[in-house]
Amino acid sequence: MLSEENILYIQQISALQPQPVQTKPAALICHHCNYVNETEFLYCTNCGYPLQNKQGSNSYKQRIEQRKTALLKAENAVLAARVVLYIIASFLSLGFFFIFAESNRKYIVVLMALLLSGLFFLLASWSRKNPFPALLTSFIMLIAFSTINIFRSLTISTITFRGITGILICLALLMVILRGLQGAYRISLIKEEL
Ligand SMILES: [Zn+2]
Repeated sequence: MLSEENILYIQQISALQPQPVQTKPAALICHHCNYVNETEFLYCTNCGYPLQNKQGSNSYKQRIEQRKTALLKAENAVLAARVVLYIIASFLSLGFFFIFAESNRKYIVVLMALLLSGLFFLLASWSRKNPFPALLTSFIMLIAFSTINIFRSLTISTITFRGITGILICLALLMVILRGLQGAYRISLIKEEL
C-alpha cells in the first residue's frame, strides 16, 4: 500500500513531467517550392501553391499545365516568326532583285539587298535570345518596306500581277511576325508567373 505521503510525492513528480503538447507544426513547408510558411497560411507566400487542401493543389496543377500549353503555343509562334526572318534573309541574299532591277541601278540594288539580308539574319538570331525586341524591330522594318512598296506600286498606274502578289506575300509575312511578337510578349508574362 502507498502511504498518503507517497501518493502526494507521485502526484508532484507527474506534475513535473512534460505534458503532451498539441502537436502543431511550427511551419508549413511548401510542396512546390520548399518555402517555409507560417502555419495559418493557406497559400505559399513564395509561389502561391495551396498549403492546406488537396483540391486546391489539384486546380493549381491544372493551372500550371494550362500555362505550359500556352507557353508551348507562344514558343511555336516565335519559332514561325524566326523561320520567316530566315526566309526573308535568304531570299534577299540570293539576289532576286538583281533580275528585276533597272540596269543602271543594279549594283546599288544588289548591295542594298545583301545589307538587308545580313540585317534580317542578325534579327533572326537575336530573336533566340531576346524574341520581343528582335521581332518588334523586324515588324517595324517590314511595315516600312511594305508601305514603301505599296506607294511605289500606286505611283505606277498599272497594277501588275507581280505587284499584287508582292503585297499579299508581304502581308502574310507581317502576320506571322505579328503572331510571333504576340507570342514573345506572352512568354515573358507566363515565365513571370510560373
Ligand atoms: Zn511555394
